[in-house]
Amino acid sequence: MNSFSTNIDRVNSLLTTFPRVELANIPTPLEKMQRLSKHIAGPSYFVKRDDLTGFAGGGNKARQLEYSFGEAIQRGADMILVTGAVQSNYVRSAAAAAAKFGLSCHVQLENRVDDMPSSYHQSGNVLLNKLFGASTSTFHIGEDEAAADANIADIARDYAKKGRKPYLLTLSPDTQPLGALGYMRCAGEILDQLHNQNKSVSAIVVASGSAATHVGLLLGLRLLRSRIPVYGICVRRDKKQQVSRVKGIVRLAENLIGCGEVVQEDDIKCHDEWLQPGYGRTNEFVYEAMTLAGNLEAMVVDPVYTAKSFAGAIGLYRQGLFNKSQNILYLHTGGTPAIFAYEREITETLNQGLTT
Ligand SMILES: *Cc1c(COP(=O)(O)O)cnc(C)c1O
Repeated sequence: MNSFSTNIDRVNSLLTTFPRVELANIPTPLEKMQRLSKHIAGPSYFVKRDDLTGFAGGGNKARQLEYSFGEAIQRGADMILVTGAVQSNYVRSAAAAAAKFGLSCHVQLENRVDDMPSSYHQSGNVLLNKLFGASTSTFHIGEDEAAADANIADIARDYAKKGRKPYLLTLSPDTQPLGALGYMRCAGEILDQLHNQNKSVSAIVVASGSAATHVGLLLGLRLLRSRIPVYGICVRRDKKQQVSRVKGIVRLAENLIGCGEVVQEDDIKCHDEWLQPGYGRTNEFVYEAMTLAGNLEAMVVDPVYTAKSFAGAIGLYRQGLFNKSQNILYLHTGGTPAIFAYEREITETLNQGLTT
């Protein structure tokens, strides 16, 4: 049982009842970060390049949306509604997928980060949403997920009254975690790649936001009988809130696929040391991570998500959780377009020489 694709096949066999479309260009590369590892002089760092999923700017949402769009199309939807932060990669990827499948798309952008320059509101993902043909509205309260979801649901109802068939994409912890299914498949892909490269890793580090990626990866690995620990780096909420969110979504995902309780509570690991001062806000670790990733690996990590998770991958070693003999896998979840929305802040900070 060690032929190529064994693990992917096993995951696929658990997911046959879920309709899926193809968006991501997979498998994405899994490779060693040679120069970064040398620089840190700690564990050997590897990266799973899900920034290179390719679809409309790349990132983790391409895998997640394969199942949501599978369901939307199966239900005969003619319109997608989606809500997220102004620089949401999820919103941008959904707008792109809607365009690809000939559905119209309305996006609601939540103002979660105050006092940002015009580039934040116009460039990066916001610009791409326009190019993908989505209509846009804004929602002024940023940190009230339930209120934002209720508002987009109202908009969906208005469209339905006009005879449209809207499909609503939300990420709140009480909705079916279809996105996690995409990362269960990714877990199989990673295990197959490690097997084929004759490598093993001691831990995987990933950003934990809506938690679809974290949950899918963790559940996928455990279903495949891998015990590799998964460290979720908080990018939106503090550790306590995120652990409870991950737990809730793990149980929903287990229910969805009907596998029983596979993930133990003490297997859920979240770290929030790199989140400060909060969602979408930078700190010294973000700048160090962006500089190291760029200078040493020609890799872009973004200020909202991946610079924080990358800082976590390095920071967990500095805290003593990893040692020099280990291989650590960093899952790069994308976010490249958002870098342009933070142009002013990044340029000013680099000019001040505040980085390593
Ligand atoms: C959405 C996003 C995340 C967080 O993934 P979740 O599945 O929502 O936890 C991490 N990185 C990037 C670049 C993202 O766009």
